Formats: sequence, structure tokens, C-alpha cells
Amino acid sequence: MATHYIATRGIPYECAHQCAGCCAYSMGVAYGKGRGGASTGILDHDEARERAEFAASGKAARDAEAIADLAPCPRCKKRNASAITRLLIVTSTPWVVLAGAGVWAAVTYDPERTGSPLPIVVVVAALLASIVVTIRGIGRWMGSTSRVELSVVPAPDE
Ligand SMILES: [Zn+2]
Repeated sequence: MATHYIATRGIPYECAHQCAGCCAYSMGVAYGKGRGGASTGILDHDEARERAEFAASGKAARDAEAIADLAPCPRCKKRNASAITRLLIVTSTPWVVLAGAGVWAAVTYDPERTGSPLPIVVVVAALLASIVVTIRGIGRWMGSTSRVELSVVPAPDE
């Protein structure tokens, strides 16, 4: 029997933020969250545990980077438009894929024939991916205020 290891990580990362509005440079800490899994089988128990922890840490680092990027400026309280745009693109992409899959499924699927259930499988997968990504996007948005602590510091020499 294979054992599946799941690791979760909440790690404070040092981060820097540059405000596009008032040009304030700030530094602080972003508490990134990540979750990773790995199964035994090819891997032994220690390796699977390590692999899960490694995946969770990688995700926590990327999460920290994303929420720091999205965080409001501690001086003018504005978020960078570029970060908001990036979040919207990432969050909306699977919905666009879902719409495409829906059209494709409507054209392809023939209820009269007991054909392949693939169109339905693809639509359901795209829907689940869209929901997961949207929940993560909302988490990022909330996290960018609740899990980032920044304070304005002198800008580093260019
Ligand atoms: Zn600012």
C-alpha cells in the first residue's frame, strides 16, 4: 500500500515592494502558504515526506512572492495595477478555457450515440480547475493584506 504524504508550509519570507503610484520602496515579511504531496511507491517514506515538504516550500515561496507583489503600499494604500492585472489574468484563464471546452463539448457531444464521455470529462475538469484557481485568487487577494507586513524604507541605490 502506498502512503501519501501531505505537507503544508506557512513560512515568513523577506520581501520588497515598489509602489508604482507614490514610488515608495518598502520591505517586510510575507507569510506564504503552500501545500504539497508525494506518494511512496517509487519513493521510500523519507523520500516521499521530503518531496512533499519540498513541494510545499516551493509553493509557499511563490505564494509569498505573489501576495507581496499584490500588497497595498504602506504609504498610499494603493495596490500596483500590474499586480492586479496579473492576478486577474491568472484567475480568469481557466474560465476562458472552460468556455472553450463548453463550446467544443456542445459541438462534439452527441447524446444519441453512446460515444466517448471525453467532452463532459474535459468540461468538468476545466470547471474544477476554474473554481480552485478562483478560490486561490481570492486567498491571494485577502492574503495580500492579512499576510504581508511592509514598512517604507529608503530605496536601495540604483
Ligand atoms: Zn504608494
